[in-house]
Amino acid sequence: MDTILTAQILVTIYFCFYQIKPHESARKLWGILFIFFALTLTFRTIAFITPLDNLDLFSNSLSNIILTIIQIVYLFSSSVFIPLIAAQWYQEKLQFYAFHDQMTGLYNRYAMDQYTTELFKSQSDDSQTVLALIDMDHFKQINDQYGHLIGDKVLRLVAGLISSNSRDEDLVSRYGGEEFLIYLPNKNLTQGLQWANRMCQVINQAPIKVTDTHISISISIGIRHFDKQNRLSLQELIHQADIALYQAKNDGRNCVRIYQK
Ligand code: GH3
Ligand code: MG
Ligand code: MG
Repeated sequence: MDTILTAQILVTIYFCFYQIKPHESARKLWGILFIFFALTLTFRTIAFITPLDNLDLFSNSLSNIILTIIQIVYLFSSSVFIPLIAAQWYQEKLQFYAFHDQMTGLYNRYAMDQYTTELFKSQSDDSQTVLALIDMDHFKQINDQYGHLIGDKVLRLVAGLISSNSRDEDLVSRYGGEEFLIYLPNKNLTQGLQWANRMCQVINQAPIKVTDTHISISISIGIRHFDKQNRLSLQELIHQADIALYQAKNDGRNCVRIYQK
């Protein structure tokens, strides 16, 4: 009986700490509680099987009472707790899909609406921000020439390159079909421009091969720079970045343009 109960508790402890995230303090607390149960059981078992009189710390009836209490608490908590963990996992999964684009794994529009406001508020008064809107050049041709599946692969690759060339504090999102919106906090205009030019270069030089043929791709970027005094909404700023992007397309693509009032 003790062995089965201990095994059950060990499995529960494992799931309490399995892929635990820093904010899941409830799971950690339950894990600690179950470690305590396991230790109590082990202690009790040792007390029972050890022939030495001085280790027989419990009398038979006392240990049975303790075991019964442990079993009741365990059964109650596992019947409440396990469904609770399952619900929490499910909720996290739903939350992930609500905030991320499924194909690229980047943030989606909804996440940008939510997080940019929070981030803007938390920035210091002298901070500057750059908003970059990226659109892939002649992407329709890639789809037409190689098919949508290859098009999707190229999109994922570009998403990965933008992501890996951004800092942890940057918010990188897939804004539309082959458009990406990046919010770069604590960057001035010169730094934002440098970042955007480097992105154009990185994408243009990316070694993309489809059935042994090298595909050359490029992106155009429109950027809008602002500071803490900004009172425009995200939508208005995106619209202005889009005007700059339109300019980049008109100026021959594979380049960066800054929004000018
Ligand atoms: P431009 O340089 O003017 O941007 O030319 P473009 O061909 O990229 O034109 P536009 O931006 O208007 O077209 C976007 C194309 O991207 C149209 C659509 O076929 C393709 N696209 C959008 N979303 C996806 C997607 O999820 N997967 C694939 N494979 N293609 C997509
Ligand atoms: Mg487009
Ligand atoms: Mg395009």
